[in-house]
Amino acid sequence: MKITPKITPIYQTSVFKFDDLNELEQYFGEPGSRYMYSRNGNPNSDELAEAVNKLEGGVGAIATGSGMAAIFAAILAYCQAGDHVLCAADIYGGSSSLLNAELSRMGITVTYVPFEQLYTLDEFVQPTTRLLLAETISNPLLRVADLQSLATECHRHGLKLVVDNTFASPIITRPLELGADITLHSVTKYIAGHSDVTAGVVVTNDAETAARLKQIGVFYGLTLSPMESWLAVRGLKTLRLRMREHSANALAIAHFLAAHPKVRQVNYPGLDAHPQHALAREQGAGQFGGMMSFLLADEASAVNDLMHRTKRFPFAPSLAGVDSSLSYPLGTSHRYLSSEQQQELGITVGLVRLSVGIEPLEELLADLAQALD
Ligand code: PLP
Repeated sequence: MKITPKITPIYQTSVFKFDDLNELEQYFGEPGSRYMYSRNGNPNSDELAEAVNKLEGGVGAIATGSGMAAIFAAILAYCQAGDHVLCAADIYGGSSSLLNAELSRMGITVTYVPFEQLYTLDEFVQPTTRLLLAETISNPLLRVADLQSLATECHRHGLKLVVDNTFASPIITRPLELGADITLHSVTKYIAGHSDVTAGVVVTNDAETAARLKQIGVFYGLTLSPMESWLAVRGLKTLRLRMREHSANALAIAHFLAAHPKVRQVNYPGLDAHPQHALAREQGAGQFGGMMSFLLADEASAVNDLMHRTKRFPFAPSLAGVDSSLSYPLGTSHRYLSSEQQQELGITVGLVRLSVGIEPLEELLADLAQALD
């Protein structure tokens, strides 16, 4: 019987069989000719890595067990004990926790660069500085980094630019084309898109780094499982369509919130009033994604009221699924920053982050209207 599935089946196996020693030698002698052990490589995780690699325009990628594993792998690809990294101050709280609490133990130190100073790094660079980590669109204040200028400034100092492209997705921005050396994702978010997978991916534009990433993935055991890879590949197939809907819904909701008397400020790059609106338009090919944050009165009761009343935006501290949700940066992603850092960044009691899904727009608007009024 000839079996020819249209899509890649799930290779739910931890190991692959060999007929004899010749086949074993073939595995080692001809890389890519066959599989041996799923931590080292599996058709499903390779399919995911290759699909994102193609979308991002890279030369090699690895799929990892989470977005955090992707960030870890990217930093280790360029750093070792004694090295120093720069990190945009506006960054996902988990990334700064990884740097502060774990990589510091491995002898990798970090300096945070305020958003306004990202393009003049002279005062931050040390002889041991290897890279700068930044997000295309920052979590949770939606600040947009000018990746081309950032790449130019990093390379002027001999640094690598590592971009967390999670909020934008490769549909909106492709950092490697703008000069970044690595682009990475929490696949958990837009790439998989259905809030049912935890995964990551790292993509690079040079073969040597790709080989290094592969080695890090195998030796640290960061590899993604077949089932999760398969789900992410399935989600990825509709990424382009989803981003269009996320972006259209979010723009309308941002306008609605900006006009609402209970809302003090809306952070959405698609609004004319956003400080990097022109850059976001150019860098994002006219789409701005589904993420935004907004400021209510700085009282927990205002936030709790919204959480209790909304039916279409459940408080679920993740993002970028097809179903809308909201999150609370001060109590979740940015909980472990000092209160001074939180204040400095603008992560305050009244700040709510929305992940706008692809539901019918009028239902989302009606829900927000009743929840806020
Ligand atoms: N990068 C960004 C921008 C994120 O928002 C997150 C998680 O929220 C991560 C990385 C970490 O991803 P994961 O939760 O898949 O490990």
